[in-house]
Amino acid sequence: MKISGNSFCPCGSLKKYKKCCRLFHFGETPLTALDLMKSRYSAFVANNQDYIILTTHRDNADYTTDIESWKNSINNFSKYSDFKKLEILDFIDGEEVSYVTFKATIFQGAIDSSFVEKSKFLKVDGKWLYHSGEFVQ
Ligand SMILES: [Zn+2]
Repeated sequence: MKISGNSFCPCGSLKKYKKCCRLFHFGETPLTALDLMKSRYSAFVANNQDYIILTTHRDNADYTTDIESWKNSINNFSKYSDFKKLEILDFIDGEEVSYVTFKATIFQGAIDSSFVEKSKFLKVDGKWLYHSGEFVQ
């Protein structure tokens, strides 16, 4: 979905997209893992496959050098998901490792595929990357 710069940012910040996650999508470096996490959520909403790939740690289970198939799977997830809401439940801020627990309210058609995830982020060369996530009951 294309997001207008003047609409509310999907991450739930109540800022305009152009003053929020779009800055990161256009090259600014998120200073915290929380900002990175939110900008990745917005990138899924915007179907910004390059940003998702760029901010994924190479040890992540989805990481592959087969960029085309990776992009296809992001595209399928983004295209068929209706992103309703992002809620941040917890943020543990560290120097090199940080954790964000969030609830993503997502529908795929009539199916509620919402989930709660605790995500782990690692700082590599001054940039936060998504390392892994585990579902929380
Ligand atoms: Zn945002």
